[in-house]
Amino acid sequence: MKRRKFLKNSTLSTASILSASVLTSCKEQKTLKDTKNIASIKPIAICTWNFLNATTKAWEVLNNGGSSLDAVQQGVMVEEADINNQTVGLGGRPDRDGNVTLDSCIMDKDGNCGSVAYLQNIASPVSVARKVMEDTPHVMLAGKGAEKFAYEKGFQKTNLLTEQSKKEWLEWKKKSEYKPIINIENHDTIGMLAIDKNGDISGACTTSGMAYKIGGRVGDSPIIGAGLFVDNEIGAATATGVGEEVIRTVGSFLIVELMRQGKTPQEACEEGVKRIVSKNKDNTNFQIGFIAINKKGETGSYCIHPGFTYRSYSKKGHINIPSDSYIKN
Ligand code: ASP
Repeated sequence: MKRRKFLKNSTLSTASILSASVLTSCKEQKTLKDTKNIASIKPIAICTWNFLNATTKAWEVLNNGGSSLDAVQQGVMVEEADINNQTVGLGGRPDRDGNVTLDSCIMDKDGNCGSVAYLQNIASPVSVARKVMEDTPHVMLAGKGAEKFAYEKGFQKTNLLTEQSKKEWLEWKKKSEYKPIINIENHDTIGMLAIDKNGDISGACTTSGMAYKIGGRVGDSPIIGAGLFVDNEIGAATATGVGEEVIRTVGSFLIVELMRQGKTPQEACEEGVKRIVSKNKDNTNFQIGFIAINKKGETGSYCIHPGFTYRSYSKKGHINIPSDSYIKN
């Protein structure tokens, strides 16, 4: 079977399975804004991929009565600090010139947001993004300006390139002939969404971006609306995968708007991925995934990967996108 046809077929069969299992009526959607219902919402934190330590941390914050904003920040910081995670923060894979450059953003229940792009030498970009949100009139700082701002706020200069990432980069250079590549596997952003005991939603997203990207490249992850979007009346979404595709479709904003129109988080994530697939003549070379949450605490996730279309599945405390993304509730 031709690849495109395979993808189309598997997407359609997934949609029909879902329509039987997840349906949200318009009436239910209206009640999402009804504050009386918020008391029944349980705190919840979800993230992309199998970053269980991150959701565990976020859950700890929520369980102690913390805000969803603190939960998502502290949750993703676990991965930023983990040198064994080569896709986020310290230890992230560098660009093709050997520079580790980080992208991150954070957004709260009131629509406040902060972001840093192409940030070097700072181990926790999400924390700098939060400072941008809280201490400046701006949304986004990039490059040297973002780095200078971070030092002014007391962040320490840190060498982000670990021995392991350096070794792999040098290996890559030998084989790559220094060509930029469309990177399929060497990326795995952590995007996290949480609802706290007050029913308020926040999100954060942080990454070292595509490994061996061209110096200066910025992906979707620090871009509000692309890598992350929160609307506390409706829900939130965050993305992982090839950022260029997510930027082109303003992916996370799209998912939230689809939920506003009445789609469940799962339906919205599927629609978002399908939209991206439909706009690409050749979708053999990219991976895209979204996770989403609505005001009721329902979740969704969906991912396309070269050669396969994955449907996420839900069971208690755990969803997959495509292999292991975790919910704590
Ligand atoms: N979205 C990230 C970027 O394009 C990478 C990823 O999520 O895997 O920088």
